[in-house]
Amino acid sequence: MSGEAAAPQVAPEAAAPEEPEEAELGGRQLAETLDDDIRKAVTLEESLSMFGKHWVGDITGGLGTAMNTKSVSHPVDAIDDFLSHDWATPGFVKYITLSIVYNSVPATIVGIILSMVFGILQIFMKPLRRMAPMNIMVGGTTYTVDSVGYFGLGMGLFGFLTTLFLWQRVRKLFCFRSREVFMDKLCIHQTDPNLKAKGILGLAGFLALSDRLVVLWSPRYFTRLWCVYEIASWLSQRKSLLKIQMEPVAQGAFVACVMGGMSFLMVVMVWLARLSNIVYGIAMGVSMMAVVPLPLHIIRRSVRDLQRMPAQIHNFAFANAECFCCSVNHVIPNTGITIPCDRDVINTKLNVWFRSEDGTKSPEDMFNEYVRESFKKYILNRVGGSKVKYTLAVIATLPGWFFITDRFHILYEIDGNDSWRLFSHYLAMTFGVFPCILRTSLWIAVLFDKVFGVRENMGADILVTILAACCVCGFIGGMLFAMIGTLSIETVWPQLIVLPLVGFVTIYLFQEDLFTWWKQLRGEKATAQGSVDASAKKADEDKVQVEVSV
Ligand SMILES: [Zn+2]
Repeated sequence: MSGEAAAPQVAPEAAAPEEPEEAELGGRQLAETLDDDIRKAVTLEESLSMFGKHWVGDITGGLGTAMNTKSVSHPVDAIDDFLSHDWATPGFVKYITLSIVYNSVPATIVGIILSMVFGILQIFMKPLRRMAPMNIMVGGTTYTVDSVGYFGLGMGLFGFLTTLFLWQRVRKLFCFRSREVFMDKLCIHQTDPNLKAKGILGLAGFLALSDRLVVLWSPRYFTRLWCVYEIASWLSQRKSLLKIQMEPVAQGAFVACVMGGMSFLMVVMVWLARLSNIVYGIAMGVSMMAVVPLPLHIIRRSVRDLQRMPAQIHNFAFANAECFCCSVNHVIPNTGITIPCDRDVINTKLNVWFRSEDGTKSPEDMFNEYVRESFKKYILNRVGGSKVKYTLAVIATLPGWFFITDRFHILYEIDGNDSWRLFSHYLAMTFGVFPCILRTSLWIAVLFDKVFGVRENMGADILVTILAACCVCGFIGGMLFAMIGTLSIETVWPQLIVLPLVGFVTIYLFQEDLFTWWKQLRGEKATAQGSVDASAKKADEDKVQVEVSV
């Protein structure tokens, strides 16, 4: 709880003690509309500026302490994204997650283009291919070609990382419109107690103005009262569930691990390429076993966090959400000032928002049901557990593509037919095999947790990781062997079977993403109320059918 006390999320207490009689429940009401003096947002560029300086450090400036930030927010009529997060998660983790959410697609495009430019340069500028010659077998012919350089890989990574952290800046330089976001620390006044209280009590008003709700999800998220309140506001306003974007904060570590591990493997592969086939295979196996366990261990931990999301949603209960005020028994530590309970204020609002028409369910039960049902239906099929979004899987495995760009000259130099075979092989690897390997590796990691349980003992846990790594490496080796095997033999048909198969498996593994894209493309709107009604209707229909069949 120490983090909570240092940076309390519930700031009204900080403001309220000025006028104790105002601090009574009657004086503090949650508002759904915003006065002009507090209706403010910041640009995304500002929110992510200076490598996330606004996200790190003491958020509220401590209870009653004025914070020396100059105001960067400005009045708005509409907000693009409401950024919802809990305070205890480290700021830099949230910053990296946001960079991935907003900047990773342009970063990927820049990385791909830059690596391709250097790949193409290597076709014409032989000195760029710095390594010893190597053999490559395509369609039954063994070609001896100049080996690859590192320019595609290096420049690809450079382009990706710089764009990832500077994209919003670049956009501003070119005068693109920046997204307007609500970030509590910057949009709610931090030094004027009245404005601060007004801002916090008006969170629902900010949500009403927002087009999307971007949730930086950590395992703590659903346990925090104010986070839960933000979700409740969204649902009560009948805003679309498809506009809630759950972004687990674990994805930063995940992307870093996969990218780091893969880049290292690619460098090793280039070095080993001069070896004969059998030695190469053994050496690759050994290096894979050296590289895979560490990222896998870290990933296992973040997947474990993600595993908690389905359970949290399944067992969601508003009554279990915690708040700062209750944790300190409504007395501000070291000051003795008593503070009112946020739970009472929020409870009052909940009673207004979720009143059932026939009065059979309590507002709290209705809200719980909305979260459990609609989140299960619209959120959990996209995130949580071992699920990784397709775009994120492609992004994390980008070093694989960068590596391929260093081999473009081979495409140029070998026989036309074989060149096409090699090219489609490369495409299938980047957009099919690598993401599928990642998804399956996560699944293997989860499976190992299921079989062996979560080990508290570090040694035992590492042992499980190594076992899982053997499984993952064996799987990756098998996949690569099948892909390279069908590529190298003279007959074409095995490859003609394997390539579409890769496509089908990719679509199968990432089908939820396709469904979501489809729904978004059609502008479908799904509300919690609608989804609960629909499942109730379906349950009724099922009942009728059972009765009929009986
Ligand atoms: Zn309380």
